[in-house]
Amino acid sequence: MSAPIGKQAVVVGAGMAGLAAARSLADFFDRVIVLENDALPRDAVHRPGTPQSKHLHALLAGGLQALNHLFPGFERSLSEDGAVPLRMGYDDRIERPGYDPFPQRDLGILIYGMTRPLLEFTTRKRLREYRNVELRESCRAQQFIPAPGEPAVTAVRYEDSDGTSERLAADLVVDASGHGSLTLALLQSMGWPLPEETLIGVDIGYATVLLEIPEDAPTDWIGARTLPDYPRNKRAAAILPVEGNCWIVTLGGRYDEKPPGDWDGFLIFAEQLRTPTVYNEIRRAKRPAEVARFGFKTSCWRHFERLEKFPRALLPFGDAICRFNPIYGQGMSVAALEADVLNRLLAARSAEGDGLVGLAAAFFPKAERVIDTPWWTAAVPDFADSRTEGQRPSDLEETFKFFAALLKLAAEDAAVHRLFLEVQNLLKPRSEYRDPELVRRVKEVMAGTKTASG
Ligand SMILES: Cc1cc2nc3c(=O)[nH]c(=O)nc-3n(C[C@H](O)[C@H](O)[C@H](O)COP(=O)(O)OP(=O)(O)OC[C@H]3O[C@@H](n4cnc5c(N)ncnc54)[C@H](O)[C@@H]3O)c2cc1C
Repeated sequence: MSAPIGKQAVVVGAGMAGLAAARSLADFFDRVIVLENDALPRDAVHRPGTPQSKHLHALLAGGLQALNHLFPGFERSLSEDGAVPLRMGYDDRIERPGYDPFPQRDLGILIYGMTRPLLEFTTRKRLREYRNVELRESCRAQQFIPAPGEPAVTAVRYEDSDGTSERLAADLVVDASGHGSLTLALLQSMGWPLPEETLIGVDIGYATVLLEIPEDAPTDWIGARTLPDYPRNKRAAAILPVEGNCWIVTLGGRYDEKPPGDWDGFLIFAEQLRTPTVYNEIRRAKRPAEVARFGFKTSCWRHFERLEKFPRALLPFGDAICRFNPIYGQGMSVAALEADVLNRLLAARSAEGDGLVGLAAAFFPKAERVIDTPWWTAAVPDFADSRTEGQRPSDLEETFKFFAALLKLAAEDAAVHRLFLEVQNLLKPRSEYRDPELVRRVKEVMAGTKTASG
C-alpha cells in the first residue's frame, strides 16, 4: 500500500464499476467498504441488481488491460475460472455489410469470452484478496450525508438486511450504483446544478439464450457477429463462447423490430438476419431453458466535467457517469479504465502529498478522456439508423464516408485492421485516426483515386 490518503472510503455498488473502483482505492485507504444492495452469490450466477447480466457481455481488450493492471494476473484468473481465450479479428467472424466476413487475421489481441456473472465472480474473488476491502452485501445506500455547512460528503446512510439504518463515515464516497441517483439527489438538496446530459435515443431490444456448443460447430470461428445494414436490414446478432462449453447468443433490434422472448420467435428473428450464419448454428440446438429480454432506450453521458462546482469527497463512477448503448460492449471496460485512471491519480497525489482536495475536479476530465472514444465509436454507427434520436454531429456524412474508406483499407492492410481494432477495443484513442499518413490514404480511397491496396 502507498502512503494512505484517507482512513475510510465507501463504494456504493458491487457491479464491475464498484469492484474495480474498490480495488483502485485499496492502495490508498486504510479501509474500503463496498455497500451492495444484493446478496452476493458465492458462484458465478445471475443476481437481481444487474438484470443485464443474462445478456452477452464482452470485455474489450482495453478493459482487460486495465483489470490486469489493477489485479496482476487477472487474465490467468479468468482463464482458470473457465473463460475462453479468443484472438480478436481471427477467432471471431465479423460480418459487416460488404464484408461477409471481414478478413480474419491474428493481430495479437487476445480477449476472453465469459458470462457477466463469471467476470464479476472472478473480480470479486480477486478483490477479496485485499484484506482492507470489505464487501458488505444486502445493504442499500439511501443517502449521501453532507458535512454541516460544508460542500462535502462525510458519510453514507444505508439500510442493512434487517431494515436497520446505519451511518457510515467516509473520507471518500464512490457512487458506482449504475443509476447515480444519490449523487443527483445530493446536488439537488444542495441547490447545485445537475450535470448536463448528452442523450442518444436508440430504443434497443435484446434477447439472449445460453446454448451448449454443438459437436459440429464451425472450425473457422469460435465467436461471430452479424452487423446490420441500415436501412435494408436492421437486425444484429452475436455469438460468444463462454465457460461450460456454451455459446451465449444475443439478438438485437431497434424500435418496432425487437427480438421476441420465446424460442420459436427467437429462431424466426435469427432467420431474418442479414446472413444465415447465426441461424444455421442455432436452429438445431436444444430448446434453451430461458430466452431473456432487455430493453435499453437511451445512451446518457452526464457531463460532470462541465460543472463549476461539485461536492468534495464524492465521485460518481461507471454507468453513473455514462451509460452506453450496450451493443458495442463498452460499459464494463470504461469502468475498468476509469478505475485504472483513478488509481494512477491517487498514486500521484499520494506521492505529492496532495490528499483528496480537488480530486473530483482532477478525475472528471480524465474520465471524459476515457469516455470520448467509446462514446464516439458508438454514436457514429447509431446515427446510421435514421430513427436514432439526438444531436447528429454536423460532419456525420463525412464521417460515414471516412469510416467506409477506413474499413476498405483495414480489409486489405493488416496494420490498419489492427489500428481499427485497437481503437474499437479502447487500447488507443480515436485521435489515432487523425494520423496525417492514414488520413491521406483514407482520403485517396474516398476520392476513388486508389483502391485500398494502393
Ligand atoms: C443488455 C446489456 C448488455 C450489456 N453488454 C455489455 C457488454 O457486452 N460489455 C460491457 O462492457 N458492458 C455491457 N453492458 C454495460 C455494463 O453492464 C455496465 O456498463 C457495467 O456493468 C458497469 O456498470 P456499473 O457497475 O456502473 O453499474 P451496474 O452494473 O448497474 O451495477 C450497479 C450495482 O450497484 C448496486 N446498487 C444500485 N443501487 C444501490 C444502492 N442504493 N445501494 C447499494 N447498491 C446499489 C446494484 O445492485 C449493482 O450491483 C451492457 C448493459 C446492458 C444493459
